[in-house]
Amino acid sequence: MLQDQQYLRIPGPTPIPPSVQRAMAQTMIGHRGQETSELLRSIKPRLKKVFGTEQDVLIVTGSGTSGLEAAVVNAVKPLDEVLVIVTGAFGARFVKICEAYGIRVHTYEVEWGKAFDPIEIKEYLQSFPKISAVFATYCETSTGVMNPIHELAAAVNEVSDALIIVDGVSCVGGVETRMDDWGIDIMVTGSQKAFMLPAGLMFIAVSERAWDVIHSNPNRGFYLDLTKYRDDLAKDTTPFTPALSLLFGLDQALAMMDKEGLEIVYGRHSLMKEMTREAFRALGIPLLTNDEDASDTVTAVQPEDFDAEEFRKVIKKEFGLSVAGGQERLKGKIFRIGHMGYCSPADVLQTLAMIELGLIKSGKSIELGRGVAAAQRIYLEKGENDR
Ligand SMILES: *Cc1c(COP(=O)(O)O)cnc(C)c1O
Repeated sequence: MLQDQQYLRIPGPTPIPPSVQRAMAQTMIGHRGQETSELLRSIKPRLKKVFGTEQDVLIVTGSGTSGLEAAVVNAVKPLDEVLVIVTGAFGARFVKICEAYGIRVHTYEVEWGKAFDPIEIKEYLQSFPKISAVFATYCETSTGVMNPIHELAAAVNEVSDALIIVDGVSCVGGVETRMDDWGIDIMVTGSQKAFMLPAGLMFIAVSERAWDVIHSNPNRGFYLDLTKYRDDLAKDTTPFTPALSLLFGLDQALAMMDKEGLEIVYGRHSLMKEMTREAFRALGIPLLTNDEDASDTVTAVQPEDFDAEEFRKVIKKEFGLSVAGGQERLKGKIFRIGHMGYCSPADVLQTLAMIELGLIKSGKSIELGRGVAAAQRIYLEKGENDR
């Protein structure tokens, strides 16, 4: 293993492209000067495209969780009734945040590893008409599930005026997101997942309808009061000192996404998912989710006859290859491969080849090359040159 070599295949933080690294090394500038305003002005329209919204996407210095908290503290008041759909550890985080603010929470639990059913949520809302917001997770990173948020918004909007608030942290930028067309009210993401940046920036977009609710809320906190960020961003500035180095990086990351084309970016993520899943199928190792619920950005593998934690240790030690373990109730039971952001089909092939060796070294008998070949066949069928 070479000293500086890291194969970071966890679902965030993700690898940083060299041009983004270089952009972040730029000399510091004043945050109230013309250059910062120009930087923000050039970032704004490109971020909107990624979110699929006409609203300005607000930029806050903080990790992804600051976005979940911002959504709660701005759009909901203590004693309000909300519904949180929990499909894994990140859905559960919304419950904890709401409870910390004294909000009345209805928790809708879905078996970990499965997506929610929008029709069931619609029926639930019909029984509890006072619910004023529905919280959902787009990609549930802890299970590798991509939830049907487009269908959820349609179903909820049929029967309720509840706001639809979505944690898109581990997928926005890697999968199609059309906030306005789908009727999503608040969408949150963080910089260290599909955006190819280090942690430290949170992005949040808010619908007109949700802004009305936010303006009527008398207690929006201080640092995360989104009206401050909205008013200032309209003037190409920020209420507090922005993480300028990360903004330099964001500018370059958005340039890369633009150059590749968002549709191609999304196609690449879907292809990497299929390659990864097909490889494990060929190796006879079960996946946690079914095809329909599977995320384009993270794949959860559920070993039956070898130890997930031991396997993770082996590949880390042998190759510097990091994959994530299971969280909470899935701890020790699964491992999760991130394939998002600065990750290509070529990276997936390399990862799979290292994984096959790691499997053998952790005592699992497989035929070398079987998973890689299956992924290669998917690439030939659906990869770059055919698109
Ligand atoms: C990574 C992640 C978060 C945010 O985590 P931070 O550590 O606060 O950046 C939130 N939700 C999901 C779905 C995530 O994957």
